[in-house]
Amino acid sequence: MELPEEGAMDLLKELKSMPITLDLLQSTRIGMSVNALRKQSTDEDVITLAKSLIKAWKKLLDASEDKSDEKKKNSSLPTSSSKESGDSRDQSSAKRQDPPKTPTTPKITTFPPVPVTCDTVRNKCREMLTSALQTDNDYVTIGADCEQLAGQIEEFIYQDVKNTDLKYKNRVRSRISNLKDSKNPDLRKNVLCGVISAEQIAVMTSEEMASNELKEIRKAMTKEAIREHQMAKTGGTQTDLFTCGKCKKKNCTYTQVQTRSSDEPMTTFVVCNECGNRWKFC
Ligand SMILES: [Zn+2]
Repeated sequence: MELPEEGAMDLLKELKSMPITLDLLQSTRIGMSVNALRKQSTDEDVITLAKSLIKAWKKLLDASEDKSDEKKKNSSLPTSSSKESGDSRDQSSAKRQDPPKTPTTPKITTFPPVPVTCDTVRNKCREMLTSALQTDNDYVTIGADCEQLAGQIEEFIYQDVKNTDLKYKNRVRSRISNLKDSKNPDLRKNVLCGVISAEQIAVMTSEEMASNELKEIRKAMTKEAIREHQMAKTGGTQTDLFTCGKCKKKNCTYTQVQTRSSDEPMTTFVVCNECGNRWKFC
């Protein structure tokens, strides 16, 4: 699925301007969300800004860890060493900083082992949860072990319900439909990258599953979709003023949209007529 990058960008900018406290970081686990966004994004600006936010927040966390080492285990911030290969843009600036104090994050998101069960119903449910988690291949980008994670979720449901009767089946069924929901891909992504734990998703109500902490990002996505729609409708102006970053051609169409308050400058949305690449020009 395609992420509307400009929407994410606005959100990150907003986050950057907000006074973030350690307490806020730990209670909202926003670091995890931003890190997930960083991993999923293909927009360099989004990735760079997300990284700088994470780095700044990590400093906050490190400062508190100097005082109390206990918090280390509960750290909701990813380490700076979880960068993907080929992603060397600000590697040098990252190296200037103190070495990360938190342990390195492995490329694959691993979850604790799950007890094996011989119950056919339970195994079938684990299978179905696995395929629900594998919807849209987000797990590939995030690098999550879906089988392991599905096993964990099922295990928590079973521990909670204590049998595989109707209540158990309904519980599993509602997890599956919500994880597969194309209108709520953030839920699945949050579960895959561990922002929402297996234990949490096992007991969440439908309302909770529908309203997750990335609701704001979804809202921005909708705003972005509206802007794109407006742009498609007005058609925009063809120009050779812009060079496409992807195909390097100068055949673009731009539209200016008032995205914020009227006293702020217009945002220029540019689309490449050759390859369809889109970007925002401020
Ligand atoms: Zn192009």
